[in-house]
Amino acid sequence: MLREINKKKFQEYGVRVIEVRGSIGSGKTSLIESLVEVLSDKYEIGVMAGDVTTTIDAERLEKKGAKVVQINTGGECHLDANLVRKAINVLDPRKLDLIFIENVGNLICPADFPLGSQQIIVVVSVTEGPYTIVKHPMILEDADLLFINKIDLAEAMDVDPSSIERDALRINPKLKVVKGSLKEGMGVQEVLKSLNLT
Ligand code: MG
Ligand code: ZN
Repeated sequence: MLREINKKKFQEYGVRVIEVRGSIGSGKTSLIESLVEVLSDKYEIGVMAGDVTTTIDAERLEKKGAKVVQINTGGECHLDANLVRKAINVLDPRKLDLIFIENVGNLICPADFPLGSQQIIVVVSVTEGPYTIVKHPMILEDADLLFINKIDLAEAMDVDPSSIERDALRINPKLKVVKGSLKEGMGVQEVLKSLNLT
């Protein structure tokens, strides 16, 4: 299995790899950007960006101190282990401590294409409504952390972040859940703590 090969390679290189999944506009890039900003003093960080609408995402991340490689999926709506394998070498992984993989903005097929990362974050925004998680349970099954984003808009959206949390924990009781707002800088420290990145 390619994902196993990737996993072994990552181990061999001594690099920790975290996949970030979520819908378009949920805040995947913003989360990675916030984490890179805090961690770039301490770690050499690479980002594989599968969800790139423009070069703005890559520029944003590079400005925060990460080495970025864009993955062209050739029109596919998800990354796969083979695309990741090819991108690894471009990043020169032996020099890196940490790699974030931003998957394509989609809550369906990334669940079927494990990449070989050690950890998986799913980002969901309250602006997606109350049922995103219930409608896409598979995306959480192998996830380690759910970040519920834009909670500053919860009231306006009439969405209760705690009910999203409860639904998520019913699907995956081992999941860590952090509620926050990346625009307001809320929740980033908790994510770092939950992933033992501090
Ligand atoms: Mg993005
Ligand atoms: Zn797909």
